Amino acid sequence: MNEAMAQEGFAGMPTPSYAASPSRLLTWLDCPRRYRMQYLDRPRPAVRAQRGHTSVGLAVHNALRDWWDLPDAERTPSGGSELVRRSWIDVGFGDPERSMLWRGRAQRQVAAYLEGVDPHQPRGIERTVSMHTGPLRLQGRVDRLDDRNGELVVVDYKTGRRPVTDDDARTSLPLALYAATVWKMFRQVCLHVELHHVPTGRVAAHTHTRESIARKVAEARSIAVDARAADADYAQVGVQSQAFAARPSALCQWCDFRAHCPPGQAVGPEKSDWAGLDEPTPPRPGASQE
Ligand code: SF4
Repeated sequence: MNEAMAQEGFAGMPTPSYAASPSRLLTWLDCPRRYRMQYLDRPRPAVRAQRGHTSVGLAVHNALRDWWDLPDAERTPSGGSELVRRSWIDVGFGDPERSMLWRGRAQRQVAAYLEGVDPHQPRGIERTVSMHTGPLRLQGRVDRLDDRNGELVVVDYKTGRRPVTDDDARTSLPLALYAATVWKMFRQVCLHVELHHVPTGRVAAHTHTRESIARKVAEARSIAVDARAADADYAQVGVQSQAFAARPSALCQWCDFRAHCPPGQAVGPEKSDWAGLDEPTPPRPGASQE
C-alpha cells in the first residue's frame, strides 16, 4: 500500500481515525524504528530492565497522586514524604545503598515541593482526557488540572535532572495538546500550562494564545497522518515495511529497544541502569524530559 492510499483509505470505506497519546506521537518523531517495536510489533520485543530514574519518577508521581486521597490532617508535606517511602520502587539502582540514598532524596524533594501546594482538591488528578481532531483521536492523562479562580491550568510533574525552563513549557507538544483537550472536554478556555520540577520546586510556565494552541493541534494532526500511513503499511507488509527507519541519536544510549537495533548500538555504549540519576537524559524534540 502506498502512502496516498494509506492516508485516503479504500474507496467507499471511511478512513479510520488514528488513536494516540502525545507520547506515541513523539516516539514516532524520535525514531520510527522504536515506534514500530513499541507499538506495532507483536509479540513486542523484550525491553531492557527499568532504570533507576524511571523508578524515582514513578514513585514521585504515585505519591503526588495519592496525596490528594489522604485525610485532611495527613495531607501535609510529611504525609507526602511518607507516601514516597511506602511506595518506593527498588528497581534499577544497582545496589541497596544507592536505592536508599535516592529514596531519602525523593522523600525530601516531595516534602519540599508540597510546602508550596494548596492542599485543597484540584479539578483533576491523573485525569484521563481525549478528543477527536481531524485524523487524530488523542488520548492521554494530565498529572494535575488546577482551577485557579476559574482559570484551568494544566500541570505536568517533572523529576529528571535537567531543570525545566519556560521555553520547555512553551514548546511542549503534550502540554499544548492537553490544554486543547481540556478546553474541548470542559468547554472552558484553557491556555495556561506549567511544568513543575519536583527536585528543585521550579515552575516553568507558559500562557498560550488560541493561535499557538491551534498550531500545536495542527502539528499533532500532521504527525498523525504520517504515523497512520506507516501503521497501514505495517498492516500490509509487516516488518518488511520501509516506513520505520532507525534514527540514531543520543537517545539510543537510553533506548529500551537497543538490543534489537544494530544502528542504535553503534551510537555509543549503553547507559547504566542508574546513569539517569546522575546525568540528564537527552531532551526529546517538542517535549521536556521526564
Ligand atoms: S536504539 Fe536508537 S535507532 Fe534504535 S530503535 Fe532505539 S532510538 Fe531508534
